[in-house]
Amino acid sequence: MNYLKKELYELIKTDDSIFEFLQKSSLDGLWYWDLQDPEQEWMNSKLWETLGYDPAEMPHLASAWQDIIHPEDLKVATLNAQKHFADPSHPYDQVVRYTHKNGSTVWIRCRGLAVRDENGVPIRMLGAHVDITSEKEKELLLTKTNEVAKIGVWECNLVKGTLYWNQLTKEIHGVPLDYVPDLETGINFYKKGIHRDRITKVVNECIENGTPYDVELIIITAQQQEKWVRAVGDAEFINGKCVRMYGVFQDIDKRKKTELELERERVFLKTLIDHIPVNVFVKDLESRKILINRMELEHMKIDDPNEVLGKSDFDLYPIESAEISRAEDLEVFNTGEPMLNQETLNILKDGTENHFLTSKIPIKDENGDISGLLGVSYNISQLKRAEEQQRRISILESKSKEMEQFAYVASHDLREPLLTIQGFAEVLQEDYGEELNEEANNHLEVILNATKRMDKLIYGLLDYSRLSQMKQLQEVDVPGIIASIQMDLYASIQNSGTNILSSDLPTIMAYPLELKLVFQNLISNAIKFRKTDTPSIIQIKSRTITDGWEFSIEDNGIGIPEKDLEEIFMIFKRLHKKTDYQGTGIGLANCRKIIELHNGRIWASSKLGAGSTFYFTVLTNTEEN
Ligand code: ADP
Repeated sequence: MNYLKKELYELIKTDDSIFEFLQKSSLDGLWYWDLQDPEQEWMNSKLWETLGYDPAEMPHLASAWQDIIHPEDLKVATLNAQKHFADPSHPYDQVVRYTHKNGSTVWIRCRGLAVRDENGVPIRMLGAHVDITSEKEKELLLTKTNEVAKIGVWECNLVKGTLYWNQLTKEIHGVPLDYVPDLETGINFYKKGIHRDRITKVVNECIENGTPYDVELIIITAQQQEKWVRAVGDAEFINGKCVRMYGVFQDIDKRKKTELELERERVFLKTLIDHIPVNVFVKDLESRKILINRMELEHMKIDDPNEVLGKSDFDLYPIESAEISRAEDLEVFNTGEPMLNQETLNILKDGTENHFLTSKIPIKDENGDISGLLGVSYNISQLKRAEEQQRRISILESKSKEMEQFAYVASHDLREPLLTIQGFAEVLQEDYGEELNEEANNHLEVILNATKRMDKLIYGLLDYSRLSQMKQLQEVDVPGIIASIQMDLYASIQNSGTNILSSDLPTIMAYPLELKLVFQNLISNAIKFRKTDTPSIIQIKSRTITDGWEFSIEDNGIGIPEKDLEEIFMIFKRLHKKTDYQGTGIGLANCRKIIELHNGRIWASSKLGAGSTFYFTVLTNTEEN
């Protein structure tokens, strides 16, 4: 024996103060029990002080501590004592709970040693207490924390090939507490596919290279439910060989699902905001843009959002525009009231102007304080332009109505004095023709011709002004119309030797009288503007097009200069005034008006001297008709 140890043993035997010091300073309680008279037990003062009692008041009786020990623990201790008495190698060593005088629990590690007589029968027992309350509380706190955080632990002994799961790890897997896992079944809990592949990979890397892992994966619990878990693992190596793996296992299902849900919502919102056909922006209290959508970027003609984020209207727009916008923002911030659907004018730095319908809604933080605003702007520039166009069209329409009204009244009223002039000129010619000399008769003739021409003009004008008063669309047999026109124009067709060719002309929905007028005008023009040296041939064709028909009337006449092809459809426009061709210049204007009433279009193609083709469409197959 070491001489110091031997010396200490001697000292303890001879000097009481040494034993006193030892029992007070190194232990939290010491007891010595008479097993032959079990009521008798000596307990040192430290034992009672640790439990909150005044040692002076406590008797040296076993019942004193038996009253305040946890009944469950007393059972365990008693059982252990019996085993230890029977077999000295069985340790009397357990953690027991005492109730402190103040009611709290004191955790004591209690160890004992039986003192036996020469026959080995236990007659006394020496015991020692160590207060482990603070460690126990820490342990309990950790268990609680783990429980709250749903963190289980696991350990894998690679030498023995065993896997240990603690209670929480088992609970997370949904297996009973007596379940014995092994490495393979452990891995098989992971969902097939990417999850199982990933855990296999990281576990292998951990075993082979000692690479720790921390992954979030899905397991399928024993109840066949999917659950998100966080698996953390590390390895211990001895002589370059992995002998142990250990780690924690956390149930993160709720958090992960919330996270995924939030992510889904974020993606959804971002997609919505980016594709919604309105400008969206969020501004902070300094009116700096902190979020913008694609539409807003496009409007600003900028590709990179970073060029806009963090900037205020003063950085992005001309000062007048920025000032107005800032004033609106301040109004929203100060009143807390949203600005809704206000017409705003936005001017870009390059001068582009856009009209918007803008709403600015205050955004509040978690304390209810305004932290910025959400802006939504709908570009109404196009709408505004259409509105303006519509306004102009309405003005034009009412002007043209006025014109028609005027033309109607004027032509109607003009006829009366004209007929009077004509009538009296005729009377003059009939009654006094023989008395008047030749020159006077010629003058009368000129007057009469002029009045006839004027009458025709007025008639034409009257027709033109009447055209817009439309009636009902009817089925019109186009070949029938052509036949009747040929009858009406019989004399001029015969005299001019004109040949009119047509085949397969349809029956269409149209205004019958008006459509006849169109064909009549075009056919009589084709006859009128024929070449004197060539027999006139007129071909009438038709073809179906979307919503209706296209007709063409082709002649081999004198043709029309290309530059005049559009103008000829204007009222009173005539190209051959000074020649022999007579006319009013109203015919084609009438045709255009009639065709427009049929939702169609009229135009001509021609070359001077090479004949003309007049085309028009009748679009009456639409639903509204
Ligand atoms: P008008 O025949 O009474 O003069 P229109 O309005 O019918 O009036 O025609 C306008 C002008 O278009 C005619 O004066 C003529 O110069 C030209 N024009 C019309 N049809 C033809 C045609 N088939 N060939 C050549 N010129 C034509």
